Amino acid sequence: MVDEPCGVCGGDRRIANSFGLTTTCPSCHGSGRRAEQSGFHDVTKTKESHHRPTNRAEVVVKAQWPVTPGGVELATAVRDSTICTAEVKARLIHEIMDHEDSHGLCTQTFIKKIRKQVRPRA
Ligand SMILES: [Zn+2]
Repeated sequence: MVDEPCGVCGGDRRIANSFGLTTTCPSCHGSGRRAEQSGFHDVTKTKESHHRPTNRAEVVVKAQWPVTPGGVELATAVRDSTICTAEVKARLIHEIMDHEDSHGLCTQTFIKKIRKQVRPRA
């Protein structure tokens, strides 16, 4: 099977190029044999674990805080909320920072949306 002649040069090892000159066959690199390229790729490479740690604590509130005036005010309201758990607060504050990142500030709509979640319901 390995001795099959190269399909490009037919086993001549050299091919004619457009200038009428012969050159070493680029397919077999001058061996005249068909390149062993089919089915020999290593597909069983050790896969790196793409499993992301899920137990990591996401609550690192102190080091992460919004930077825009609106965001700081909003985050403060979230932090001082009496109806949210620490987990929810951390998530909302994260959301605020994400929003700042993509909008450059906290939009009124966004502020209202967040405030609604931290305000005690009547
Ligand atoms: Zn060849």
